[in-house]
Amino acid sequence: MNNRLYGNLIFELSKPGRKGYSLPKNAFGHTLDELPEGLKRKEDAQLPECDELTVVRHYTNLSHNNFGVNDGFYPLGSCTMKYNPIINEELAALKTFAGLHPLQPADTCQHALHLYYCLQNMLSELTGLKEFTLNPCAGAHGELTGLMVIRAYHMSRNDDKRTKVLIPDSAHGTNPASAAVCGLEVVEVKSRPDGTVDVEDLKILIAEWGNEVAAMMMTNPNTLGIFEHAIPEITKLVHDCGGLMYYDGANLNPMLGECRPGDMGFDVMHINLHKTFSTPHGGGGPGSGPVGVREGLEAFLPTPRIVVRDDHYEVETGNYEQALGSIGAFFGNFSVMVKAFVYILSLGKENVKMVGPLATLNATYIKESLKDVYELPIEGLCKHEFVFDGLKDKSTGVTTMDVAKRLLDYGYHAPTIYFPLLFHESLMIEPTENESKETLDGFIAVMRKIAEEAKNDPEMVKTAPHDTPIGRVDDVLAAKSPVLTFKQMKSI
Ligand SMILES: *Cc1c(COP(=O)(O)O)cnc(C)c1O
Repeated sequence: MNNRLYGNLIFELSKPGRKGYSLPKNAFGHTLDELPEGLKRKEDAQLPECDELTVVRHYTNLSHNNFGVNDGFYPLGSCTMKYNPIINEELAALKTFAGLHPLQPADTCQHALHLYYCLQNMLSELTGLKEFTLNPCAGAHGELTGLMVIRAYHMSRNDDKRTKVLIPDSAHGTNPASAAVCGLEVVEVKSRPDGTVDVEDLKILIAEWGNEVAAMMMTNPNTLGIFEHAIPEITKLVHDCGGLMYYDGANLNPMLGECRPGDMGFDVMHINLHKTFSTPHGGGGPGSGPVGVREGLEAFLPTPRIVVRDDHYEVETGNYEQALGSIGAFFGNFSVMVKAFVYILSLGKENVKMVGPLATLNATYIKESLKDVYELPIEGLCKHEFVFDGLKDKSTGVTTMDVAKRLLDYGYHAPTIYFPLLFHESLMIEPTENESKETLDGFIAVMRKIAEEAKNDPEMVKTAPHDTPIGRVDDVLAAKSPVLTFKQMKSI
């Protein structure tokens, strides 16, 4: 490890005069003089000067500092860090897909339109909703699109007072953010001690605001990994007051093939292909947040739409008077759709049904194996994820942050911490269905070891991580005064 140039920037490795390239002189027969004066540099660009091997080592070492699902266990709650099978990447990289241009005439890309159309229909079948658009590029983008559909629906009925959205206090932060971006007002619904929506509180809110409610947004299972059993009652309450039901399907994983939001009475939903359907995410990579609607709301979905007539696919933007119009560039992130399509087909109808139960079994196994040393605030069944409220023994002063940092020393990605906001020391664990029993046992053993360390050597846990390229950072400083630029040193 020591001979790696950790912490160095490529600029710091620069030596005046070093070269990592050789180009033929004036290969194209043009000279600088042909460039207009205004386009020429006044002084040389400040570029690093390095030999090729130094550059290769630098970036290879940097890539080793990264951590992904392919490196190790990544139990990041609410994020479904699922393995992305290699076959997904191979097929998405085929030239016939990767080489497409979004402005290509429909006649020349029937195969891609066919895939898009089939994926829409598969999602409809999996969720029980009538029609999907694949255009939104993330979960939050899907939420915004779905809420815009809901708003357009109310406006089409001249019901313009409906500006409130009911959102449980356990919801993912994107829910209130999307509502606000859509120009709607958030009304928070309380949770009961068992973590589910407080139906009595909902009744009070509906009695007060009923005819102003545009929608209620729900996540099921919710962000505590708990199935919301009162859905039929909640759906009826919201529908009776004229509102629509929105399903945040980012965490659809445990429901896949088991039960369908459409059958539960939801009107609009989004799905994260980059969670449930295995396409990779993190680091701001491309995502996809398809939005589905029940029968009667199709007219409001965005354009462009892909339609089929006499076995021929066409792209349509006109002819949809009530449609939202375009909500992003072209059709969304197509390569992500190819990967999700391959994932669904390679599982097949039967195996898709195994995803939810296996994800639930894995989460339950970890929860039951650790609940004697970590505080489990809500007993009972969990689905694909669950939340601890820090270590059981609070006398050590070791916090959830310390446990998360210590896990890095053992080669694990930390779980989600301090979310949901319902507990002080939230530690949210989601293993996904692909993990073997050996992987889960390894993680459980390490979590128990950290609990022991917290008792015997709390200072060591509180100062973790010790074995990573960078030690504990000051989160507050990093968030409040981030240093995002590199000040070039004189010597270069
Ligand atoms: C991840 C997630 C989202 C947001 O999805 P992005 O693609 O990150 O925008 C919304 N709701 C829930 C419950 C989530 O887990």
